[in-house]
Amino acid sequence: MSELQTQHRLIPAALEAVSTACAVSRAVQANLAQLCEVTKDDRSPVTVADFAVQAIISLSLADQLSECDRLIVGEEDAAVLRTNEQAIIRKAVLEAVKSWRPQVTEAEMLDAIDACNHDGGSDSFWALDPIDGTKGFLRGQHYAIALGRIEDGEVVAGVMGCPNLSTDQSFPLDQVDSQGVVYAASRGAGAWEFADCSPTSPPMRILAQRYDESRPLRFCESAEKGHSNRGDSGKIIDAIGTEGDPARLDSQCKYSLVARGQADGYLRLPTSKTYVEKIWDHAAGMCIATEAGAIVSDVSGNPLDFTHGVRLEKNRGVICATDGLHQRIIAAIDDLAIAQE
Ligand code: AMP
Ligand code: MG
Repeated sequence: MSELQTQHRLIPAALEAVSTACAVSRAVQANLAQLCEVTKDDRSPVTVADFAVQAIISLSLADQLSECDRLIVGEEDAAVLRTNEQAIIRKAVLEAVKSWRPQVTEAEMLDAIDACNHDGGSDSFWALDPIDGTKGFLRGQHYAIALGRIEDGEVVAGVMGCPNLSTDQSFPLDQVDSQGVVYAASRGAGAWEFADCSPTSPPMRILAQRYDESRPLRFCESAEKGHSNRGDSGKIIDAIGTEGDPARLDSQCKYSLVARGQADGYLRLPTSKTYVEKIWDHAAGMCIATEAGAIVSDVSGNPLDFTHGVRLEKNRGVICATDGLHQRIIAAIDDLAIAQE
């Protein structure tokens, strides 16, 4: 347990915030049908969850941390939520936040969401994706609450809740578990899994697989066709000489599958020349995977570069894989001239 003591000083606060948010997001997901009915819009449940989780993480970090330690680059802002047209959604978000903190006011909730408007320009900040994998959330499947810590352009810590992922690695990935897991990693201190999305569960150190050419390899990729080029991933998997389709699931849960040895590689191959990845979609997951011993890069084999504000301007695509396999994937991408122009 000694490594846990060398964890980043802000990990306990982040774990507290993310695990609290997991419980609330799970309740919102459980009431999907009811929310769709009330709001007459099947996209609104995810909106309610996005705003509620961002508010809770913002308020929770504000309780626990000094002003300079709680700058957040969050995916959402409350501008739309403040309009008259969004009164029903606003009420639903407030109810969700109140389920955790009954005394919170509407103004406090809206201000907490907007407090996550940092531009990524300072030395140290958090990158927050309140509901990563929104499509999965709406399908009642996997999603993640991802909070990464960036200091001097490097990701130094990451906490990620995967409320529908089972601790049991034999549990089918197309089904959801009612307990979920939360991960925490910090540079040099390893990556850790906590059952039941609870920081009070006994921490379990996670390690990526060792690359072994003699056994079948397991890959994962986005459930959404538009987020990763399946034709290209098929060619890479063929070139590496393994069989079977990748597991397809939403969100940064894919990083945790590699981190805990359930998958050997996560392929995210560009579908367009213009899409630029966002820091909140990768900071936490990347930290967890690398601290578990996996390698993370873009499709050219370059490290993800977090020195350009909210976007990974210098990178295209993401490859996360066990050491050894990662080099083989990059060589295959090169040989097959994938994503070269
Ligand atoms: P995933 O659940 O792994 O498919 O990734 C979800 C994330 O994909 C969302 O948070 C979006 O920010 C991001 N995204 C949206 N459009 C694209 C795209 N064209 N290529 C890659 N990622 C995208
Ligand atoms: Mg996202």
